[in-house]
Amino acid sequence: MRRKLAAGNWKMNGTQASLAMLEKLASDHRDSPCDIAVCVPSYLLIPAAATTATGPVRIGAQDCHAAPKGAYTGDIAAGMIADAAASYVIVGHSERRDAYGETDALVRAKAEAAQAAQLTAIVCIGESLAQREAGEALPIIGSQLAGSVPDDSTGDNLVVAYEPIWAIGTGKIPTLEQIAEVHSALREALVARFGAAGNDIRLLYGGSVKPENAADIFATSDVDGALVGGASLKAEDFSPIITAL
Ligand code: 13P
Repeated sequence: MRRKLAAGNWKMNGTQASLAMLEKLASDHRDSPCDIAVCVPSYLLIPAAATTATGPVRIGAQDCHAAPKGAYTGDIAAGMIADAAASYVIVGHSERRDAYGETDALVRAKAEAAQAAQLTAIVCIGESLAQREAGEALPIIGSQLAGSVPDDSTGDNLVVAYEPIWAIGTGKIPTLEQIAEVHSALREALVARFGAAGNDIRLLYGGSVKPENAADIFATSDVDGALVGGASLKAEDFSPIITAL
């Protein structure tokens, strides 16, 4: 049985003052039957993990390098994220694929590094508006999944997030039928590749998830939770999303 997961992605937002929100989430959702994660900017990893050490909230990073260490100015290694007592790392977010030219092969190498460091990789995939309008969404997503997911993936070390690029930060979301269609195709592809273990890998939806639409999205088949951007920045927005799981 897959445990539901509400994961926040703060992107390049938040300061040390935001740690108070994590304390509030931890106390408000002490008995949550679901997993909760917040992916914070790198400089907050250590205090965020310390703040949430005993509660239900786990901490994640938003990217890692594929190499274990070395001359990569400005980057962070998966082992460093684990050393900060974080549990997750997002890889292949569309903002990084777009702004830094990250390919499926690079995303896969980063996910492998994350898994080798005992982190759970949250691998992001999703089509652009032009690809959706051209009827190419399913093949594009299928090829991103095949190219970005490592061979040694399990339900413990991999989460896949379907984030249509046109739904991120726009207030637009796909129809529930479109979400169901993609998630069912992803599930089929994971089972074809990993056998029964493919059923253990969680599939998150991401893109303009809000308290108002969360319950409907979570009731959609093969949606195991959400990767939430803007609405994860305030407890009053993220809390009802967690409760809707
Ligand atoms: P929004 O929830 O702000 O649309 O962002 C989604 C996202 O990119 C999460 O990774």
